Amino acid sequence: MALVTTKKMFDKAFQGKYAIGAFNINNMEIIQGIVDGCKTKNSAVILQVSSGAMKYMRPDYLKALAEAAAKESGLDIALHLDHGDSLDLVKKCIEVGFTSVMFDGSHYEYEENVKLTKEVVDYAHARGVVVEAELGKLAGVEDEVKVAAHEATYTDPDQAVDFVKRTGVDSLAIAIGTSHGAYKFKGEAKLDFDRLETITKKLEEAGFHNYPIVLHGASSVDQNFVKMCNDNGGEINGAKGVPAEMLRKASAMAVCKINMDTDIRLAMTGSIRKYLAENPSQFDPRKYLGESRKNIETLVEAKIDEVLGSANSMN
Ligand SMILES: [Zn+2]
Repeated sequence: MALVTTKKMFDKAFQGKYAIGAFNINNMEIIQGIVDGCKTKNSAVILQVSSGAMKYMRPDYLKALAEAAAKESGLDIALHLDHGDSLDLVKKCIEVGFTSVMFDGSHYEYEENVKLTKEVVDYAHARGVVVEAELGKLAGVEDEVKVAAHEATYTDPDQAVDFVKRTGVDSLAIAIGTSHGAYKFKGEAKLDFDRLETITKKLEEAGFHNYPIVLHGASSVDQNFVKMCNDNGGEINGAKGVPAEMLRKASAMAVCKINMDTDIRLAMTGSIRKYLAENPSQFDPRKYLGESRKNIETLVEAKIDEVLGSANSMN
C-alpha cells in the first residue's frame, strides 16, 4: 500500500459523521504505536510532521518509516506537512513523497494569506497533492508557532467562503476555541459550534458541498498521563485540554480532521518516566520505548472511539 491523499478519507468522514485523526510523529515508536492502534480499530489515519520534526527525523528516514507503516498495516495513511511556512518547504515535502501539505499563512494579512496559499495550491495540485490552509488565529504554542491568547481571533464565516473560493484549498483549519500546546485554557474549554455550523452552511451555499474542516490544538491532555509524568519526577502543572465529548460533537459535524500532538507526547514521556522510575536498574531502550509504544497504541484506540468515531472507516 502506498501513501494516499486525504481526499477520499474526508469525503467518507463527512458523510459518515466522524473525523480522521492527525497525529504528529517524531520517531519509529510513535509511528508504530499510532498505526498499531489504527490497525486494531480498522481506521484510516494521517501521520503529520512539523518542519521541526522533519529536521529531527530527516527526510529519508521519515519517508521510509511512513511507507513501511502503510505497507505493513494495509491502512489508508496520508503523510502530511503540519504548519508549512513557505512554498520552498512545501516543494521539499512533495519531493520527499508527502501526499498532503498544510500552508499556514494565518499570521499574514488576509490578502497575503490568500496570495501565498493560492501559490501553494497551484503547485501542489499540479502534482496530485492536497492542501490544508488556516484562517483565524489559534492561541498557544506549537513548535515554531506562538500566538498569545489576546492575539487569537476566531474565523470569520464570510471570509472563510471567500478564502476557499479564491485559493481552491482542499480543507480549512479554523479557529473556534481550540488552542495549541498542553496549557490550553484558564477556565473551562468552550468551542464555538454555532460558528462551525455557520461556516459549513455558507460554504454549502457557495457550492462547496461537504467541505472538510480541520481542528488544530485538539488534544484532550489526558490527566492519567499528566499524572504519570508528575508522579515520576515530572513537573507539568495546570495542563488542560479539550474534553473528548466536545471534539466528538465537532467530528460529527463538518470537522473531518482532528490534530493531536500533546497527548502523544504526554503518553510517551509519562510511560518512559514511569518505567525508569520503577525499574532503575534497567537500561535496555526496547523496554521503556516498547512500553511507550504500547501506551500510545492504547491512547490512539481510545481517541478513535471517544474523539474521532473513525473505527472501521477502512470498510
Ligand atoms: Zn496546529
